[in-house]
Amino acid sequence: MTYLFETEEHSQLRENVRRFAQKHIAPHAHAWEEACEFPRELYRTAAEAGLLGISYPVSEGGAGGDVMHALAASEELVLYGHSVGTCVGLNSHGIALPPIVRLGTPSQKERFVAPVLRGEKISALAITEPGGGSDVASLRTKAVRNGDHYVVNGSKTFITSGVRCDFVTTAVRTGGEGHGGVSLLVIERGTPGFTVSKKLAKTGWWASDTAELSFEECRVPASNLIGEENMGFLAIMINFATERLFLAGQCVAIAELAYRESVKYARDRKAFGRTLMGHQVIRHKLADMVTKIAAVRALVSECAVRVVREEQVPGLAAMTKNAATDMCSYVVDEAVQIHGGNGYMREFLVERLYRDARLYPIGGGTREIMNEIIAKTEGY
Ligand SMILES: Cc1cc2nc3c(=O)[nH]c(=O)nc-3n(C[C@H](O)[C@H](O)[C@H](O)COP(=O)(O)OP(=O)(O)OC[C@H]3O[C@@H](n4cnc5c(N)ncnc54)[C@H](O)[C@@H]3O)c2cc1C
Repeated sequence: MTYLFETEEHSQLRENVRRFAQKHIAPHAHAWEEACEFPRELYRTAAEAGLLGISYPVSEGGAGGDVMHALAASEELVLYGHSVGTCVGLNSHGIALPPIVRLGTPSQKERFVAPVLRGEKISALAITEPGGGSDVASLRTKAVRNGDHYVVNGSKTFITSGVRCDFVTTAVRTGGEGHGGVSLLVIERGTPGFTVSKKLAKTGWWASDTAELSFEECRVPASNLIGEENMGFLAIMINFATERLFLAGQCVAIAELAYRESVKYARDRKAFGRTLMGHQVIRHKLADMVTKIAAVRALVSECAVRVVREEQVPGLAAMTKNAATDMCSYVVDEAVQIHGGNGYMREFLVERLYRDARLYPIGGGTREIMNEIIAKTEGY
């Protein structure tokens, strides 16, 4: 099944992404996940195949399209690449670049957006701090204006692609307490005082790197400020709504892949003189899995259509993310169960998908914070 909004154009895009994933990711997926890294050259190969520019304006070096194209492409990458870690690492620009595309100056777009879409530079987004990620308005990394620079002190953690990125779109405090004092600053690798303090070991998403970053008396040119000073919080919230839709789309992709693997396994594996598929309990498990995937796919579709219509949908995006993460957790758990002991073994794909799926109720805003947003938008 594909998304209801898809046309012939999306179908061609899927074919292109599928060819790329089958050729350049799938043969190495297991090895890259085990090595906790994929080759840096993959960014350039992906750019040449037209993947990195999807949904970015042609005027900024992108390939055009919108969030619907990005959702279709990202699903295909997971389904045929078989490495969620590689896909999220390759696509960290999807959260790092949009604020620059929306609010950046022409010179900032030329310096930061175009090279990433050409696969020459790697970008990351840094909001979360060791002291907490949910309460974004309380972030503490300070940027104090000094002439034509900001002097940045603080730290960030859990930053996807943070270990080897060339720049980080960073949320900093330039003003007073609360959301009115937050700005976005691009901090480039090599800026004195900016270091990767740790490469973090994690449950899933192994092929992507995740970093703790440190800023000590780090002098960042004021020309790297994205948008207006102290107006960064709104940009972060707008970015979050799209990120949550993408994360929900990744949940659909992961669940779909786990479901397909389970159908294959149930057809091959025998127990009590017949295939697993010959047992009604297993058929019903699969029926429940595919039903839940279809329901969430419909919700993701609806949310995507509204985003493309430029409706503000923070509540719907939060609902979509929670519905998707619940569904995905359920589906990968059942997939492991259908695989029995093999489902617990590293050489079986569903074992890895089970670990990958655990991130989604946490990353991009937790399940609990999504409910807070829904409660607020519902007016209670
Ligand atoms: C693999 C991975 C990749 C990530 N990538 C990035 C990235 O690229 N950039 C980035 O900036 N961040 C990234 N994150 C961080 C992620 O967004 C945060 O982990 C998340 O927002 C939660 O923040 P926290 O971990 O500090 O949890 P906390 O804020 O400490 O929350 C801990 C628990 O308390 C609950 N809680 C908090 N406040 C409330 C409340 N008001 N009501 C009820 N419950 C509450 C939370 O729901 C959670 O269950 C990543 C995280 C992971 C694990």
